[in-house]
Amino acid sequence: MSLFRGSMRTHINGHKELSEHADIITLVPEKVAIPLYFGTEMNPQILVQPGDEVKAGTKIAQFNSRFVVPIYSSVSGKVETVEDRLHQSLKKVKHVVISNDKKYTKEENPVLDYKTATREELVDFMMNAGIVGCGGAGFPAYVKYKDVKDVENLIINAVECEPYITSDYKVMENDFDLVLTGIKAMKKMSDAKKVLIAIKKTHPELIQSVSEKLKNEKDIECISVPDVYPIGWERTLVYQLTKKRYDKLPLEVGCIVNNATTAYMFAKALTTGEPIVSRMLTVSGDAVKKPCNVIAPVGSSAHDVIEACGGYTTDDVVVCFGGPMMGTTITTDDVCVERQNNAITVLKKVAIDEVACLRCGSCSDHCPSGLQPVRIVQANKLKDMARLEKLDVSKCIECGMCTYVCPSKIAVTENVRRAKRAYQMSKAKK
Ligand code: SF4
Ligand code: SF4
Repeated sequence: MSLFRGSMRTHINGHKELSEHADIITLVPEKVAIPLYFGTEMNPQILVQPGDEVKAGTKIAQFNSRFVVPIYSSVSGKVETVEDRLHQSLKKVKHVVISNDKKYTKEENPVLDYKTATREELVDFMMNAGIVGCGGAGFPAYVKYKDVKDVENLIINAVECEPYITSDYKVMENDFDLVLTGIKAMKKMSDAKKVLIAIKKTHPELIQSVSEKLKNEKDIECISVPDVYPIGWERTLVYQLTKKRYDKLPLEVGCIVNNATTAYMFAKALTTGEPIVSRMLTVSGDAVKKPCNVIAPVGSSAHDVIEACGGYTTDDVVVCFGGPMMGTTITTDDVCVERQNNAITVLKKVAIDEVACLRCGSCSDHCPSGLQPVRIVQANKLKDMARLEKLDVSKCIECGMCTYVCPSKIAVTENVRRAKRAYQMSKAKK
């Protein structure tokens, strides 16, 4: 079935003005709790124990199963405990809790000159530095570059199509030179013919300053993309820039897509040896006192991050990691920041008066994956897994669009998400 039967393009209010020009706050928490979690893999090799002294950048754990995923301390100080705590996936997960001595003594980790390094050395370096996709996905970035060939375009995604989020924008605005170093290293790793840096047209000053800095760069170009949702989704962005469609991976059409902050983090590791110990994340929404961007150590609690922005404006709030469309709602703000988190969105809770489905078809018309949410939900009610397969439920990217457009105020995305989980579980059992 072809994807993109839906409109793929809906303008939604971005609310970017809340945070994009506010001052950046640097958070110095008393302690951090670093989750030892990577998707379904929950058995890391833990390299520290309570009482150990660590530095910012000390390796504290590593997953070695399907992918190599090292985890580093984000602060210097003493390991207090290794304990099970609630994770943003709402599962209990092991965390290394470290009291912060606030000296930020750094571990001496290796650096690498991308100009003289081989492609293989760069891939290994990226893997060992624990660089993950920083746009929310958290997938180990090196995997995209391992043994690749025939790459036409390396696409740097600085689109931020979700409402409220401006962290990539701030990283690009603050230190594009370092982002560019990361991009050049990634270009070398991929052997891509061309690099396309995608920025939403709503940021004309950034587009102009980036284009200015690229004037003497061969094969690296800044492209302005329309202000529509979900233009930052990998599949939509590849289509927007190349007019090519793929089945599973962008590499099928000669593309690799990485987020701009990922390039920045990679460059930081290459030039200073520092893995992702802290990151920029947007804290915004209509229920936080001072929306802004915060540089927070990995393992900071959502509570500390939100407090740094003045706290909540009201008691009844909805908090999610990520944006309001694709983010994950958390049930307590004692949950901690991970390397991939680009935002915390805080919204006033509003009573939703859901009414019966009108069969208007709006959810199908707007679905960027060309799905039929109402049929999917019905099939799940009947536990009809064969029908769910036919309806391509696994192609749902949980973009939130069907809920956004539903005039009956039905939580369509949540219902489709449940159907997708049920289908995936039944498939895994087989
Ligand atoms: S959440 Fe899934 S079903 Fe709903 S619009 Fe997005 S991709 Fe389509
Ligand atoms: S948009 Fe809402 S009301 Fe319309 S068909 Fe979909 S679920 Fe029903």
